[in-house]
Amino acid sequence: MSAAGSGFLVLVAALAPAAAAGPGDGLAGFASSSAARERAVEAAFAAVASPERTRDWHRHFTAEPHPAGSERNHELARFIAEEWKKQGLENVVIHRYDVLNTAPLEVSLTMVAPVRYEASLREVPVDADPDTRNPRVSSGYLGLSVSVDVEAPVVYAHSGNPEDYEVLRKNGIDVRGKIVLVRYSNPYSYRGFKALTAERQGAAGILIYSDPAEDGFKRGPVFPDGPWGPESHIQRGAITYDFIVPGDPLTPGWPSLPGARQVKPEEARSLPKIAGLPLSWKDAKPLLENMDGPVAPRDWQGGLPLEYRLGGERVRVHLRVRMDNRVAPNYVVEGRVRGSELPDDWVILGNHRDAWEFGGVDPSSGTASLMEVTRAFGDLLKSGRRPRRTLVFCSWDGEEVGLTGSTEWGENFADDLGAKAVAYLNVDSSASGPDFQPDAVGSLAPLVLDLAREVEDPATRRPLAEALRATVAKARAETGDPAPPADDDLVDVRIGSGSDHTVFLNHLGVPTIGLTFDGPYGVYHSMYDGFVWMNRFGDPGYRYHVLLSRIWGTLALRLANADLLPFDFASYARHLRRFVADLDRATEKGRLDLARLRARIDAFETAGRKLNDARALALDAGVPAPDLARRVNRGVIDVERNWLDPDGLPGRPWFKHTLYAARYTYAHLELPGLTEAAEEGDWERAARQAAILERAVARNTELVDGVVRQLSAGSPPAP
Ligand SMILES: [Zn+2]
Repeated sequence: MSAAGSGFLVLVAALAPAAAAGPGDGLAGFASSSAARERAVEAAFAAVASPERTRDWHRHFTAEPHPAGSERNHELARFIAEEWKKQGLENVVIHRYDVLNTAPLEVSLTMVAPVRYEASLREVPVDADPDTRNPRVSSGYLGLSVSVDVEAPVVYAHSGNPEDYEVLRKNGIDVRGKIVLVRYSNPYSYRGFKALTAERQGAAGILIYSDPAEDGFKRGPVFPDGPWGPESHIQRGAITYDFIVPGDPLTPGWPSLPGARQVKPEEARSLPKIAGLPLSWKDAKPLLENMDGPVAPRDWQGGLPLEYRLGGERVRVHLRVRMDNRVAPNYVVEGRVRGSELPDDWVILGNHRDAWEFGGVDPSSGTASLMEVTRAFGDLLKSGRRPRRTLVFCSWDGEEVGLTGSTEWGENFADDLGAKAVAYLNVDSSASGPDFQPDAVGSLAPLVLDLAREVEDPATRRPLAEALRATVAKARAETGDPAPPADDDLVDVRIGSGSDHTVFLNHLGVPTIGLTFDGPYGVYHSMYDGFVWMNRFGDPGYRYHVLLSRIWGTLALRLANADLLPFDFASYARHLRRFVADLDRATEKGRLDLARLRARIDAFETAGRKLNDARALALDAGVPAPDLARRVNRGVIDVERNWLDPDGLPGRPWFKHTLYAARYTYAHLELPGLTEAAEEGDWERAARQAAILERAVARNTELVDGVVRQLSAGSPPAP
């Protein structure tokens, strides 16, 4: 307490000159008197998080494997709830959802021809990391795989994407009744999509392995000498079809409260009908070495010193998977700091707790950062500094199985969230390296960038925005684009799935921000992703964890305390225009007339710019009257909800956002209804989807214009 107190004084003193620089102090959404107070609160907040405390949290969360449904993960839920109470959080509760859980009972893979080889399906312990000897580490398995006992020939199907099966067909290879061996990423696609693709092709099973070209020795030194995956590392993971509908497969679209109606497993659209296992390259190599058939295409060759062949006859395996997939509780921990003035406006921060094993990076780095964020907010509360809006903190469960805990919670509180949520700030992994990788919806990207300009990269002591610009420039250069990135390119506004923001953005129309620091990370979902890996490679010294806590909490504070919510719809419109341009480029000329949509986006941008100006002008005049502020902020939140189409995407109605969805691979997908129709060449459906978008943009232009009129009049019109 005392160390934090003195740090606070020093920081406030250092910030005082900047706070006097002018109205609003460059803080979007704040009048100058509120900005000064906000700066002081942010400085006090930033002084709390410490690398030592973060490391202690991290050690605690990474001490044991804690997958969803395990007793250890439940214990951690109770631990978090108790700690939050001690820290001073309010309304701490543990929600229970009864969902389809998944665990292996027995798994084995034996090559029976041409030679016998028993796959270990286990990772080899290393002396440098005592945790790797923990007897509670599981074998490799794929969450929500079905059970199977089958003997069949093996076919190498590259990355297991649909185009790979085309290549096999051209080579006269039929995978029906066979077991396909695919690699994780070349290019990357979510393993559930590989499973669905194999299922559709009629395969009898799927083996997904980590090729060293992607995350092993071909990339650099392997653990414990480097951050890449060693010979026996296994990427566990679920193969749930949560790109169709996430959450508990048995309660699609409604919460899994105890006693809730459930669909039959055979009717559950997100449940795989195929069995599979993940393999290390150590276990995949004997299969690949013995394959017959044509030599695989050049870009199918991997990092092992052998000639990759397509197979299909010679190598036969016996695959046995017995899964324990049954309904069991998931626990979501929720805690709050109630808002002093606007308690029914919620800013939500969340991170998942469940990990395949120790979860060094994924997600315990994020959990450690979260605990420092809540500790700092508890301290602020104790010193009498309560945010204006309510902060809601959530520790999700079952993210790794199907984004389950967050989805059930979102469905549980859908009405409240629709009325009250201002934004959702997600952190899955906090740090696997030093590269800042923020994402945000178009209206919130400028808020994130503003803050990145203010905070320092702890390694270089330069503004984080500069490091971000360098990272983006490098990534672009790798794709052959030498153009220097503009400000609009720095925060990624193309948001796919694969984490807990999904229910908020895609189902509820709550705008989201995602934060992480990235780096070379080859041990994802393996038992080597632990405490030692983090301290050797990911973030020795925990500086990026602490910075992440600071960014996460500061963004929450800005959204919670702003006089007028700082959503930038002109920015949204600029990004929308790019989405349309990308679609146009990808579409055959003349098939799609998007002139009207483009005109509507232009009008939306004009309205957004006027709102930015009117807001700045109003804030220059001082803190707006509460009633005016309430109306303006309500309008801003309504704009975000208006992107929802109640009918949802054709074929997957749970996904309701007209601007954002994810492909089946988890990759981002903009203007999803329109883009999917255009890609399928269904021009009638595309025209209907374009009309839905036009209406949404027009509705929002009208809404923003109305907000501008209220602001300009300076007082609310008669009700
Ligand atoms: Zn995660």
